[in-house]
Amino acid sequence: MAKQDYYEILGISKSASQAEIKKAYRKMAIKFHPDKNPDNSEAEEKFKSAAEAYEVLSDENKKARYDQYGHAAFEGGQGFGGGGMNMDDIFSQFGDIFGGGFGGFGGFGGGGQRQARVKGSNLRIRVKLTLEEIAKGSEKKVKVRRKVQADGVTYKTCTTCNGSGQQMRVTNTILGRMQTATTCGTCHGAGEILNKKPSGADAQGMIVKEETVSINIPEGVTEGVQLKVGGKGNEAPGKNSIPGDLLVVIEEVQHENLKREGSNIHYDLYVSFSEAVLGVSKEIDTVTGKVKIKIEPGTQSGKILRLKGKGLPSIEHYGTGDFLIHVNVWTPQELAKDQRKFFESMLDDENFNPNPQKSDKSFFEKVKDMFS
Ligand SMILES: [Zn+2]
Repeated sequence: MAKQDYYEILGISKSASQAEIKKAYRKMAIKFHPDKNPDNSEAEEKFKSAAEAYEVLSDENKKARYDQYGHAAFEGGQGFGGGGMNMDDIFSQFGDIFGGGFGGFGGFGGGGQRQARVKGSNLRIRVKLTLEEIAKGSEKKVKVRRKVQADGVTYKTCTTCNGSGQQMRVTNTILGRMQTATTCGTCHGAGEILNKKPSGADAQGMIVKEETVSINIPEGVTEGVQLKVGGKGNEAPGKNSIPGDLLVVIEEVQHENLKREGSNIHYDLYVSFSEAVLGVSKEIDTVTGKVKIKIEPGTQSGKILRLKGKGLPSIEHYGTGDFLIHVNVWTPQELAKDQRKFFESMLDDENFNPNPQKSDKSFFEKVKDMFS
């Protein structure tokens, strides 16, 4: 399949300025962000291709090559080679795109060097939640072991690259002599190197520290949703570095009696044959508390009672789901002699003969109703 043009992906013209490129990408990233589009692989693809387009077009050097050679500029070893970017790469761009406190975008459009800015790696944890916790949203405190700069560590400007983090190299290629910027071998792109290292710190002045991080979990989250706590990943060495993020993956604990289906919750209620015949009231544990319900005399097995709004809030805030009670009539499996006699005597009784009315919807009609 032919790759889509990077300008088309971002919906901009070839003459767009760096500010316009950034603005366009920011819009796409917000629109197709996976947190906003859970389980939507089309949105994820768009999110990824927008990130890839931005990665190239935001870099004057790469942009110039792309303008001249198209996607061929990055084939054969360099660039993405069609493999695309992974999510961590994309999120690590976001410091530049959304970060207010991260300083300017030195050099953009002015032809100068881009300020080197090293970002710490992301940390990933899993958090288990019960349906009850999902129903009301919760604040979870988790212990995280993260890399941080040791107290008293200092850094100084790298003398190899004068703080730019890059070294220029001239290479001969089939396209002619090409000047390319490569990451500085001394500081690995940070523009800074260690100056003073406190005891106990590693070669980059870092230590591992256990920290308690509090995570706000919105109500209605689903299994596999990834939340991001900005800046709570590993720190990176250097004065100019920014910390990575803490990525929290939600895991749903299976409930003993309840089954979740989107924002609806299903519950199987068993009533005795006598209860179904005579009627009964029952107390049901929903995820938001106990509810009293009435089973009318003559209730049929398979009836579904719907408690409106007693399910889970939707993560997109389209209201709250329902709590659906499936009534199952328990048929006795063992009978005493006189009981057996009684039921035998009822075999031809009119009252015991099935006689479904129009109001006794079939299973399929009920399912159809539930989804309409
Ligand atoms: Zn350097």
